[in-house]
Amino acid sequence: FTRLRGRLARSGSPLGARLLAVLSRDHLTEDDWDELEETLLLADVGAGPTGDLIEALRTRVRVEGLREPGAVRAVLREQLVALVDPTLDRSLNLAPGADAAGAPTPAVVLVVGVNGTGKTTTVGKLARVLVAEDRSVVLGAADTFRAAAADQLETWGSRVGVPTVRSDRDGADPAAVAFDAVRTGKASGVDVVLVDTAGRLQNKAGLMDELGKITRVITREAPLAEVLLVLDATTGQNGLNQARVFGEVAGVTGIVLTKLDGTAKGGIVVAVQRELGVPVKLVGLGEGPDDLAPFDAETFVDGLLE
Ligand code: GDP
Repeated sequence: FTRLRGRLARSGSPLGARLLAVLSRDHLTEDDWDELEETLLLADVGAGPTGDLIEALRTRVRVEGLREPGAVRAVLREQLVALVDPTLDRSLNLAPGADAAGAPTPAVVLVVGVNGTGKTTTVGKLARVLVAEDRSVVLGAADTFRAAAADQLETWGSRVGVPTVRSDRDGADPAAVAFDAVRTGKASGVDVVLVDTAGRLQNKAGLMDELGKITRVITREAPLAEVLLVLDATTGQNGLNQARVFGEVAGVTGIVLTKLDGTAKGGIVVAVQRELGVPVKLVGLGEGPDDLAPFDAETFVDGLLE
């Protein structure tokens, strides 16, 4: 993971260019302030946080008599970092658990989110990171809705060198597959079981039933270490709605923000963290196996301001 840290700062964005253009002016006019506000709104920072931030920035510029563009930019950076919150614990909980009989269990990580957001890819990339850290892993293909999902996960599994537990049948009970995966992981004494799920949002009651059942059967075998919600950074406000629904049905413990490569909309970080009260822990920066990085508030803001 550590060697990936620098990647985020290089994700680059038109937001940075726009902010930089405004902030390089010698004196900020009302139009400049409007443009700054608009730029933050376009980056999905959200109306409330953007309004607060602009007001605080204007106050500091006035009170401290800041003139030099670099000084204004430094204060903006400081405020954005505070908004993203560098104090949150963003580490993944991968501690082994214990079942009802006191026997040790793998750390079970359930990965949830709407189809197409990047769940399967994230599971594959995360498996690779864990294997590189010398942890043993089993994958569970509980996305039994999409025909190709189990194949896709299995491909990741063989690429990374970890087994995938799946059903041979399309439309099999996802909870049964999740249960099998955790059982298998437990029996073979692996460190981590990563469970991929389907995310059909058309029907909230259906989603709640499905995730509820998956969670219930898993926790009969092992406690859940993490429930990671995968959100596509390019979907803006829509991502926030998804966060709301999954937050209600799934007991989310961390967020993975995917597709941060090629979007200036990373400001959604601020909104989803506030909405769910849980931190963004990982970010997806591409489709390749090495394109997953731990989220870091300062690096992220530097990427925005680049
Ligand atoms: P799922 O339906 O949620 O399991 O989504 P998939 O894992 O199948 O991903 C959907 C598409 O998004 C695939 O084409 C992935 O390659 C792509 N994808 C996933 N994560 C990222 C990312 O971080 N960046 C980019 N650019 N594409 C991604």
